[in-house]
Amino acid sequence: MAAAPFVLPGARRYALKRARVLGRSLPEPLGPLDFDGFAIVDVLVDAGKIAKIAPAGAVDFGDTPEVAMSGRIVLPLFVDVHTHLDKGHIWRRKRNPVGDFPSAVTATVEDRSANWSAVDVAARMEFSLRSAYAHGTTAIRTHIDSVGPQTRISWPVLAEARERWLGRIDVQASPLFTIDHLANASHVADIEAMLDAYGSGILGAAIRMEPDLRDGLGVLFELAERKGWELDFHVDESSDPAARSLKVIADVAIERRFQRPILVGHCCSLALQEDDERQRTIDAVARAGLSVVSLPMCNMFLQDRAAARTPRWRGVTALHELKRAGVNVMIASDNTRDPFYAYGDMDMMEVWREGVRILHLDYPFADWAQAVSASPAKAMGLDCGVLHQGGAANMILTRARDFTELLARPQSDRIVVRNGEASSARPPDYAELDALEGLAP
Ligand SMILES: [Zn+2]
Repeated sequence: MAAAPFVLPGARRYALKRARVLGRSLPEPLGPLDFDGFAIVDVLVDAGKIAKIAPAGAVDFGDTPEVAMSGRIVLPLFVDVHTHLDKGHIWRRKRNPVGDFPSAVTATVEDRSANWSAVDVAARMEFSLRSAYAHGTTAIRTHIDSVGPQTRISWPVLAEARERWLGRIDVQASPLFTIDHLANASHVADIEAMLDAYGSGILGAAIRMEPDLRDGLGVLFELAERKGWELDFHVDESSDPAARSLKVIADVAIERRFQRPILVGHCCSLALQEDDERQRTIDAVARAGLSVVSLPMCNMFLQDRAAARTPRWRGVTALHELKRAGVNVMIASDNTRDPFYAYGDMDMMEVWREGVRILHLDYPFADWAQAVSASPAKAMGLDCGVLHQGGAANMILTRARDFTELLARPQSDRIVVRNGEASSARPPDYAELDALEGLAP
């Protein structure tokens, strides 16, 4: 591995000289932008805050210690808006035998019933949060499997983790269950009680085509309206073009004039619908003001998989078309080393890199860079994902000077700066999970 590119001075006040920062990551334009949309700026850090961002050379910082960035890219910290901290890292004890979606569900349900004690869930959540922290993530939204006795096991664990990570990673959570559970009054009561006690003001569920879809959505919207909660749905995670629940969700949101943010994830089947039908759905999504998150790594893993057959489809939704319609679009990790996705490390640099390849998020690069920072921050209602004067000096320093250098390598030598200081955090060792998996160290 290459040596660390920069050494930050121990001082509380220092200047990054000639750093490359995306014009889109700044609240206001600063000087001319290059081909990739970057400005060359000086960044003054003082007492953990960004005290000043100015065009390179425009301000004399006196005898302030300087770091010569020489045109290398500085990014805001990442925001990961769709994850499953409760499912992560169960792969070795519960593999997905064929790699498709139904097998992932079956394997996860079996492991959940057998193994998801509070101690087990807490340890795996902590492992994922430490990984995300080391890679430079500042905010995470996770879905929490909320079915049967698991609901009352996982939510207190989530609340403890959120508390423990306060000030380092902002953690939000949304419950996950299929809407057939809404017919069960004790399930609904459990969800409401757990969200009241431990939640983030976000209600959610997995939505697919089923006869009682509108009734189920009615219950969810009514509950969210009554409590003032946001909504976050898994939607149409399917290659069947007849999976059209996204349109129903948008229609219901419009009909009810729902006021709070709604985030929808996956929406895979939208990409496979006829052009006019897809456009009608996208128009409704834009009109309803939904945000859409694509999960490119997980979608490519699960969708269009059949034994001994080469996949023909990348599994992702029509993200470019949604963006063109004015929808707030983004990408995120989704699953991490569990039956839904065998790989992943809560590393948004990997998600971005893979997203660029899978979804063609490269023309223009600068626009799509928001999909791992400012856009998910907006969907989460958070003031992060940008670099601004007066804000915390939270950033990622890289050796790259343009997008091809940035995306060609995994950026393993990135320096994550939090409150002005280079973080020494590294991803935890997998061996720490051995005991949970019943394996000898
Ligand atoms: Zn998911």
